[in-house]
Amino acid sequence: MDQPEPTDVVVIGLGPGGEYAAGALAEAGLHVTGVEARLVGGECPYYGCVPSKMMIRAANLIAETRRVAGLAGTSTVTPDWSAVAMRIRDEATDDWNDKVAADRFADKGGHLVRGHGRITAPGQVTVGTAEGTRVFTARTGIVINTGTEPAIPPIAGLNGTPYWTNRDIVRAEVVPPSLIVLGGGAIGTELAQVFARFGAAVTVVEALPRLLALEEPEASMLIERIFMREGIGVCTAAPAERVSHNGVRFTVHLGQEVLTAERLLVATGRRVDLASIGVAAVGLDEKARAIPTDERMRAADGVWAIGDVTGHGAFTHMSMYQADIAVRDILGQDGGSADYRAVPRVTFTDPEIGGVGLTEEQARATGLRVRTGTTQVPYSARGWIHKAGNDGFIKVIEDADRGVLVGASSAGPYGGEVLSALQVAVRAEVPVATLRNMPYAYPTFYRAIEDALRNLGSR
Ligand SMILES: Cc1cc2nc3c(=O)[nH]c(=O)nc-3n(C[C@H](O)[C@H](O)[C@H](O)COP(=O)(O)OP(=O)(O)OC[C@H]3O[C@@H](n4cnc5c(N)ncnc54)[C@H](O)[C@@H]3O)c2cc1C
Repeated sequence: MDQPEPTDVVVIGLGPGGEYAAGALAEAGLHVTGVEARLVGGECPYYGCVPSKMMIRAANLIAETRRVAGLAGTSTVTPDWSAVAMRIRDEATDDWNDKVAADRFADKGGHLVRGHGRITAPGQVTVGTAEGTRVFTARTGIVINTGTEPAIPPIAGLNGTPYWTNRDIVRAEVVPPSLIVLGGGAIGTELAQVFARFGAAVTVVEALPRLLALEEPEASMLIERIFMREGIGVCTAAPAERVSHNGVRFTVHLGQEVLTAERLLVATGRRVDLASIGVAAVGLDEKARAIPTDERMRAADGVWAIGDVTGHGAFTHMSMYQADIAVRDILGQDGGSADYRAVPRVTFTDPEIGGVGLTEEQARATGLRVRTGTTQVPYSARGWIHKAGNDGFIKVIEDADRGVLVGASSAGPYGGEVLSALQVAVRAEVPVATLRNMPYAYPTFYRAIEDALRNLGSR
């Protein structure tokens, strides 16, 4: 048995929340051991939000340039992916090198251990490192921030083919002539539009009846209409049955339909592997899909869990929000506890699809007496002025008995930014009467919220 090394807190996994928590606890004077198997910072900076949003920024510039005609003269644009690939490699990820983040943690007083961490007893974490096994005993506790991996569906023939996940596509040096995207959720739709705008022939395949199936049906219809307009193929209610690769091209069988393309992106969701981090050693179910926590992020005696692994939305902002709560709990500080009523989610397609709180279907399922109000962005003053690229809508969901919003969607140009006002309304339970009785700046996009509120009806 290796000699146990005492520490105050072991943070297993340094995703956005884990990195923040580990640094904050170290700055507070605790002896913190941060265990990371891959890159300090996790999925978001190296394989997720940041590189994908750099791609989207570039793809949206192309789309905007193409909208010049009829509004500001003429324009031509010659897409060049090398600028995007270089920016991701050099600016976003330092060529997938986490030295800056590792140094930042060390500067805060943290101790980084590179390797795979596993809970082997209450208060004990065993780490398999390149140099051998190390065992840590945590006086205060263990924070779990191990995130998620791309989920690969059990489709016949898929295993063993050179398919991409998000971890491969962010390293793409060239745009393939054609691309099939398996999965029409946020990641799949964002990347499909990016690669189509850079010239790939893209088809999105979704097993469920609609794209962005977790959002309002209006959002799905909008994005499917936009994709068709942009020449992106959309196959919904179309589970892939078989995949093959002949050394050059992929073939995907969807019942009667057969698709082929040079590249295949699998974006069919994320999975956790609780068994590999040994949660059974602290009495947790290693077969569960997430680690349940209380409102202070406590998962078991001396164990806190934060981020994707808690199942409250795979978002960087959720990981950071929960990390802050866990840090305060560990340090015995006051402050708010976890509240999930107004979790914002944004799909950064063009138009952006923002949502907060409950969808209409979810609100009705809880038994609330629901009223909804919808308005179309192109009919708002700003949408009309904006013209090309003005597609979008705002939908508000009211608990009619209490007269407050319990959910809202905001799709359109800057839809994610417009969502902020709706998030405050849902979170703070601002009475709809108050929301109706205030001036909205003319002619902003968010002013359309007033129209949606005015349209609140019995359905
Ligand atoms: C393509 C893509 C785009 C995205 N875009 C957005 C976006 O725009 N906005 C947004 O909010 N979210 C976005 N997300 C989601 C976001 O990346 C995650 O929600 C975010 O990274 C938070 O995850 P986390 O803190 O739970 O951990 P992660 O970021 O998943 O990090 C977990 C870390 O733990 C490490 N680890 C795992 N197991 C062990 C172990 N046993 N021992 C040691 N280390 C371990 C991993 O190596 C990893 O570094 C996107 C994700 C993807 C894939």
